[in-house]
Amino acid sequence: MVLSLFDDASKRLAQALKFVNISDDAIEHLKYPKASLSVSIPVRMDDGSLKFFPGYRVRYDDTRGPTKGGVRYHPGVNLDEVQSLAFWMTFKCAVLNLPYGGGKGGITVNPKDLSRLELERLSRGYVDAIADFIGPNVDILAPDVYTNQMIMGWMMDQYSIIKRQISPAVVTGKPVTMGGSLGRETATAMGAFFIIEQMMGKLDRHPQETTVAVQGFGNAGGTIAELLAKVGYKVVAVSDSQGGIYAKQGLDIPSIRQYKNSSRGIQAIYCQGTVCNIVEHELITNADLLTLDVDILIPAALENQITAANANQIQARYIFEVANGPITSAADAILEQKGILVFPDILINAGGVTVSYFEWVQNRSGLYWTLEEVNQRLKAKMTAEANHIWSIAQEMGTSLRNAAYIHALNRLGEAIDAKGTRDYYTSSH
Ligand code: GLU
Repeated sequence: MVLSLFDDASKRLAQALKFVNISDDAIEHLKYPKASLSVSIPVRMDDGSLKFFPGYRVRYDDTRGPTKGGVRYHPGVNLDEVQSLAFWMTFKCAVLNLPYGGGKGGITVNPKDLSRLELERLSRGYVDAIADFIGPNVDILAPDVYTNQMIMGWMMDQYSIIKRQISPAVVTGKPVTMGGSLGRETATAMGAFFIIEQMMGKLDRHPQETTVAVQGFGNAGGTIAELLAKVGYKVVAVSDSQGGIYAKQGLDIPSIRQYKNSSRGIQAIYCQGTVCNIVEHELITNADLLTLDVDILIPAALENQITAANANQIQARYIFEVANGPITSAADAILEQKGILVFPDILINAGGVTVSYFEWVQNRSGLYWTLEEVNQRLKAKMTAEANHIWSIAQEMGTSLRNAAYIHALNRLGEAIDAKGTRDYYTSSH
């Protein structure tokens, strides 16, 4: 039987529930998305024709605060995926103790097929369609796969037009000139970087002797590859949606990023110009990259990359999930058996939403922070929660993923019970 993404995501919840003592009400509450909105977005295309694009926004749970999460533009977006991503956001925000619930949005579109103006009309049309479902105290948008600062700026502007008041706090990840936070663009990678450094220290591993493969070269993947290379890790393989490259002696990440920024694929660009000649390299597929013999594997693209079908071939010693949901629950069990340490998405990629929270706080207070302040606070939060999860895993003899869910569940359970009415029915007074 093929499980839906959401069914598979829910398995992690069922597993962690065995380790926590939270009320039946809270358990029941967490099984279902609070509200899911499906819309059709009309866009007037450049050639004058009219096209409709399917769009979604899901508010999974708002017990701990307004729902929060990105908006994805991808041809594979569907309601099942958006619900799963909103579920993960709920646990991610609880892991980091952010005063938010989880939400997510998406549009089924290949943004590379649209002109800049079509993309703007689509983004504004999306906000028109969901405006009553979101708000600075209700549900807050942010970037995700194939969306960026520019798109967040349009979305914030459109919401402000609809509400007839400037509302920066309804969207995070905006351009800095429109109320964005310094450090938000690099936040997902920076958060992961802080934890990798902390954990490699704990495990007594030195960057110079540590090889890394990164799948995905977007905002998160490209930045983490660069941050790690800069402090001496040997990044031997990177890829994008078209394929990847491998060089045993390590790749020159800054030049690859430069080429990639001129919007060409990694494989195509690598052999044009001078970079190709700097190191010898092999062309590889995304599937090859995952099974390379490296110390650290970083999936930083899409979900369902490591499944029961390829988990047995994974050779990495540590996996840091920068993408959301890259490993299925069936693959988890195989990796655990092989002794591979998996650092879970709801902790590792939480730097993005953490700095989104900082942005929201700055928008509401009107006082803006320096980059140093942002990164210092990010580091303090990420490393403290990582330590906590590490101890839970040690004490309970369980995986880091399960420990992260346990940690989040304790916070969620307490919040749900604090609101609840169950006691009126069960107690005698
Ligand atoms: N899309 C990012 C994530 O999956 C960031 C969400 C946010 O900043 O709200 O965590």
